[in-house]
Amino acid sequence: MNKKIPLSLLLLLATAAVLPAAAQTAPTETAAGAQTPAKAKNIIVFLADAGGVPVINAASLLGYGEPQKLRVQQWPHLGLSETSPVDQFVSDSANGMSSIMTGVKTRNGVISQGPDAARGRQDGTPTKTLLEYAEERGLLTGVITTQSIADATPAAAYAHSNDRKTWGTIFPQAFTPRFGDGVDVMFGAGRSKIGEQLVAAGTSFDKLGQTHNRPIYSTLDQVPAANLRPVVVGDRMDVHVATLKALDILQRSPKGYFLVVEWDAHTDDPREGLQNVVDFDKLIAEVERRVDLKDTLLVFTADHSFGLQVDGGRRGEPLLEGYEAWKAGPKQGDIVRLKNVLVNDTHTGEEVAALATGAGAERVRGYFPNTYLFDVMMKAWGWAADVTAAR
Ligand SMILES: [Zn+2]
Repeated sequence: MNKKIPLSLLLLLATAAVLPAAAQTAPTETAAGAQTPAKAKNIIVFLADAGGVPVINAASLLGYGEPQKLRVQQWPHLGLSETSPVDQFVSDSANGMSSIMTGVKTRNGVISQGPDAARGRQDGTPTKTLLEYAEERGLLTGVITTQSIADATPAAAYAHSNDRKTWGTIFPQAFTPRFGDGVDVMFGAGRSKIGEQLVAAGTSFDKLGQTHNRPIYSTLDQVPAANLRPVVVGDRMDVHVATLKALDILQRSPKGYFLVVEWDAHTDDPREGLQNVVDFDKLIAEVERRVDLKDTLLVFTADHSFGLQVDGGRRGEPLLEGYEAWKAGPKQGDIVRLKNVLVNDTHTGEEVAALATGAGAERVRGYFPNTYLFDVMMKAWGWAADVTAAR
């Protein structure tokens, strides 16, 4: 009697015997895989400024006449990232990007300082950025933008300020880094306005360049091939060319690199804004072909969403019907009413897409606060954040 196999065990064995082998082993493999996502050597953040879910949808419709045709929409990992500052529901670029770069939510207008900052009045605790962690560990770093290189989004990667408008003191922080030797590759726009603010702050592009032995060029073409830490601040910046040029330098790094690429996606002018997203996506596809996703993490997200909606239209007809008439006519407040597209020219509070592919990308899933993207990237590198009150 004591050798009798219990009926329940017999049933279990019988059930297992008829299951296909894959069905028996798959859960174990999945569990093991989930515990050990690949480590990233390199991370690139593609930041579509104001490029929320509706804008991505509309960009695909404009560029390809069909939804979900963008390259980033083919990426395997997707989450919805919540962007609000600590005290309001709707974010600006400063809080939005600071939260992603530092893992600490703050206040609108504040660049990578904690919520103890009072905008324009009092500094808060500096919050350590992903770029600073990368610099500290000897990686090469880069910041590239279609916008002013001192504007809130790029600034949140390399500077700390209680007021995003203080470009005259934000930009020079790139030359007096808290960690490592500071941003290695900087390509952005905003030359005239930054130049004016530098002079008002008692310095200039020339003075900064001489003091730190880093010339600040005004076009990409001026950079000598031998300069492996180039700074270009132009009146405009071709981010496609700039990003590929940056990769030529950053990909030489034995320890890896961290690169932030911002492309404006505000759709207050819907054709310009949506075309920007289509063009950004084409660049991303090209970068994706240049990197090895086994050791590189690519993240695409936005700092906040924007009030654009597709509320009509038919396949085969132009999405932006009525755009030319709107562009030529008198503007009426913050509302753009095209036949198929409604734009309320303001930031909005709903979550933005966070899309990821490559090493460590599988952590991007579900709803989460945008500060979680900081954790995703630190974990992809296998690094622990400093244990301080505000990092
Ligand atoms: Zn923004």
